[in-house]
Amino acid sequence: MMEDIRKNLSKINEQIGACAQQCGRTVDDVLLCAVSKTRTPEEINIAIDAGVTDIGENKVQEIMDKFDAVKPVRWHMIGHLQTNKVKYIIDKVSMIHSVDSYKLAAEINKRAAAHDKIMDILIQVNSAEEESKFGITTDETEALIKQILETCENVRIRGLMCIAPYADDPEDIRVYFEAVKKQYDLFGRIDHPMLDFKYLSMGMSHDFPVAIEAGSNLVRVGSAIFGERNYNK
Ligand SMILES: *Cc1c(COP(=O)(O)O)cnc(C)c1O
Repeated sequence: MMEDIRKNLSKINEQIGACAQQCGRTVDDVLLCAVSKTRTPEEINIAIDAGVTDIGENKVQEIMDKFDAVKPVRWHMIGHLQTNKVKYIIDKVSMIHSVDSYKLAAEINKRAAAHDKIMDILIQVNSAEEESKFGITTDETEALIKQILETCENVRIRGLMCIAPYADDPEDIRVYFEAVKKQYDLFGRIDHPMLDFKYLSMGMSHDFPVAIEAGSNLVRVGSAIFGERNYNK
């Protein structure tokens, strides 16, 4: 297990480096967030020992269950977040990728203020407008950003996040990544102290090379590092 995780990580880092280089960037320009859902603290710690600095989880419960057993690392909440669960992770995660409503942003703001902290967030854009996925449509991005900036003093908007539809050929979904990159460049120019775009979170195990080519600088990779997930374990 240990050797597999290490080997997979060095392979992924090599691939990230190669993709980045192709578009005039380096491996250091792309942050790897290792997605550890269904994985044990032991497995996560192996990844951390091998150099992983950022861990992503899509469920509040998993963050809470694993938090104390995992070595110091930056935690990312990458999955759909219900407002009533924000309070459980507000003091644990360094960024929430999945903000897709004003209601959620307002709750994050309230809980962050109570902890006297600023929470970094990304706006989740569902550029393919898939019914099955969370996220706002590209038409809604600007209004949501502005509404958050007007009222959420303890929230800092660090960029955008996108989960593309599954495609056998990732080439087919390049357009969805490119649409979000366009918005990232556009809204990153908004002049406001609580808007500081740094992260464009796009790309998973099967599509991260295309996502990086389209401009992603934060990839969320799970199964290519930890192996295929077995939800029935
Ligand atoms: C599970 C998950 C990933 C990683 O998926 P893999 O295919 O295992 O790389 C990335 N982003 C989100 C939001 C996820 O839930």
